[in-house]
Amino acid sequence: MSGVNSALHDELNPLKAAEARFDIAAEKLAIDEGMQKVLRFPAREVTVNIPVQLDDGRIEVFTGYRVQHSIARGPAKGGIRYAPDVHIDEVRALASWMTWKCAVVNIPYGGGKGGIICDPSILSERELERITRRYTAELVEILGPELDVPAPDLGTNQQTMAWMMDTYSMHKRHTVTAVVTGKPIELGGSKGRTEATGRGCLFVTLEALKRFKIYPYNARVAVQGFGNVGGQSARLMAQAKMKVVSIIEWDGAVYNEDGLDIEALMLHKKETGSIIDFPGGENIDKNEALYLDVDVLVPAAKENVITQANAHKIQAKILCEGANGPTTALADPILREKGVFVIPDILANAGGVTVSYFEWVQDRQGYFWNEKLVNERLEEIMTQSFRDVVSFAEKHNVDNRTAAYMLALDRVLFTIKLRGLYA
Ligand code: NAD
Repeated sequence: MSGVNSALHDELNPLKAAEARFDIAAEKLAIDEGMQKVLRFPAREVTVNIPVQLDDGRIEVFTGYRVQHSIARGPAKGGIRYAPDVHIDEVRALASWMTWKCAVVNIPYGGGKGGIICDPSILSERELERITRRYTAELVEILGPELDVPAPDLGTNQQTMAWMMDTYSMHKRHTVTAVVTGKPIELGGSKGRTEATGRGCLFVTLEALKRFKIYPYNARVAVQGFGNVGGQSARLMAQAKMKVVSIIEWDGAVYNEDGLDIEALMLHKKETGSIIDFPGGENIDKNEALYLDVDVLVPAAKENVITQANAHKIQAKILCEGANGPTTALADPILREKGVFVIPDILANAGGVTVSYFEWVQDRQGYFWNEKLVNERLEEIMTQSFRDVVSFAEKHNVDNRTAAYMLALDRVLFTIKLRGLYA
């Protein structure tokens, strides 16, 4: 690999991105070398090779991982990803991300992540079920409401969680709903979970707007990604009277100066399969749409969207990171220089894991909350966490991302010391 290509590869590598942010925060907190090692290395990594018979009778072996980065503050918590490019480095990075995310919103979890190298788009429902059940059976000793609580991620969904819960329960000889979150409501899922990440983005954005003294009805918003996080963020922000002027998807972007009708756009996407040619807006260039002069930009599609190559073009005042890792570490100083107010991913999109925590609490109590209560408690946690991060940033004269990492590291470190986890 040439020098330039290798630098680019490093910039886009999620493990490097996580390490870069960790290093800055650890240095600012003056964490000693030994403790840095404790925080840096995953507590446990398990690799499983799962033999599964395919529908045509052939036997295939799939490799799966589960990484528990930290269990200092509570059970490991994090999604399971099914994708052909799942890599142990990525799983490690995502597991550590979960540790910091749970600590930022101060919920009693550590961080974990899992994945299976497979392509769900070419596997049948029955094959996916067999893979999921074998994977869960292999991990039965390390999973559990008190140990490690998976959730859906890319390529997995409510059905995957239902199979995991059932397989785990078969081994335990009784139903254990709290072993996974993101389940169907009928199997112990929580109301409000589907909208939770987008709703969390709304709550932190409203707090950021207050700091800029911008009323929601004057706020112009662009959202990249019109899936779960982006779609719900846009819908809820429009409901809160913000003007969502642009939605950006992989195949194009739409724009309306007066604000798009998000419900109508959702219907248009459902009917046509795309957001483009929406009668209530005009098609615009998807790359240029990222650089619109808006108050709020919500990258809610994928990682590595804002890099050192384009960060200088961002005009938004507030960047609410709905996706995981949409900004690379090398783009951070450029945004800081430009004065962009970043609500970092480990805070902005923590609404999802927060309502997962509520799901786990409800399952353990066997008592289910109504949606109003879920949303109120989510608002309380997101608003408080936003204030914690921003005041930490002001106190230590650092940017919001560094502050979020510092706060998270500090909280995890405090628990490790209090427990004497290294003794
Ligand atoms: P999703 O698959 O529902 O939606 C993603 C959307 O982004 C899709 O509509 C897709 O077409 C679009 N997209 C893909 N590539 C694009 C591109 N190059 N430009 C513009 N749009 C593009 O996924 P999601 O659940 O909404 O997750 C989005 C991001 O948020 C991911 O980074 C995920 O890890 C993160 N996240 C999700 C949750 C959650 O609760 N779903 C929680 C925390 C973080």
